[in-house]
Amino acid sequence: MISTGDSSPATRLEAPMRRQLLAAISQAAWPVMALGRPFEAVAADLRSQPTGQPVIETLSVLRSRLELQFAPGFSPTLQAAARTWVHTSADAVARYFGRFPVPKVELLLVPEDGSGVRGGVTYDEPSLLIRVRLGRQTTEAQFIDDWVLVHEMVHLAIPRVPRPQNWLHEGVATYVESVARGRVGLVPPATVWRVWAADMPQGQPQAGDAGLDHTPTWGRTYWGGAMFCLMADVEMLNRSAQRQGLQHALQGVLAAGGNYGVAWSVDRILSAADAAVGQTTLTDLYRRMKDSSEPVDLDSLWRSLGVAGGTLDDDAPLAKVRRAILPW
Ligand SMILES: [Zn+2]
Repeated sequence: MISTGDSSPATRLEAPMRRQLLAAISQAAWPVMALGRPFEAVAADLRSQPTGQPVIETLSVLRSRLELQFAPGFSPTLQAAARTWVHTSADAVARYFGRFPVPKVELLLVPEDGSGVRGGVTYDEPSLLIRVRLGRQTTEAQFIDDWVLVHEMVHLAIPRVPRPQNWLHEGVATYVESVARGRVGLVPPATVWRVWAADMPQGQPQAGDAGLDHTPTWGRTYWGGAMFCLMADVEMLNRSAQRQGLQHALQGVLAAGGNYGVAWSVDRILSAADAAVGQTTLTDLYRRMKDSSEPVDLDSLWRSLGVAGGTLDDDAPLAKVRRAILPW
């Protein structure tokens, strides 16, 4: 079971950047998302249920099926807005992975008092299920701004891992959520880089740290894992002249049969990912970081990528890598 609550890292997107983000999205996001959306709502499957019963719809996302379950208490307006939000989130995830991560998943939406997306949990038993709590007063802007559902859907793309390596799951979900949403215009790429530069230091080892596999703190789990993903992505793209990065590596895990429906060791996941791009970057980085409390030189990484100083520098040595992660 993997949960995303209000205290998870990307809630920071709601802080000072929120107004700017929404302004940008209201200009650009909906027309972009209307083009070539790789999923289709099957309206004929909409079944009206007696009061007190969930309303169930089936969405096709490429070759996958999402069973969308509205718990009792949704107004028609909220239900329509939530349906669009599910479409948009599934689209962002499917575009990143080249497919939706699993053939079938249930998505249970539960309304409650208040506004906003209140947190999500992904379950693997008895079948794959994402449960999300939604405020009844959630606005369209809040749906556009939401990261929780994409985060939970990204979890579906990684096999279940032993508890000490939960940082890999949360790290991939935290990192890929931002990239996937940035790629489809739900968040401006410059904002993603600014948030990462501000928040990723929370993933650095603190006093008493014993490496990623032995330090299950919030910072190391979410941002330490995201830092691992960023470092791997940069190195893979740099080595391959920007042709193949973490996206291709993670697509390789899916192609090898790895997703949240199965339990794999981290070594197996990283080997499959490395094999997909013909490198050993992920395995090597894991060996270096799993037991080590050595901090990452993030300041140097931001300078190389051209992220330092609050602006994006296209003359930086790794500017091409930065644009390969998040083009604009
Ligand atoms: Zn998570």
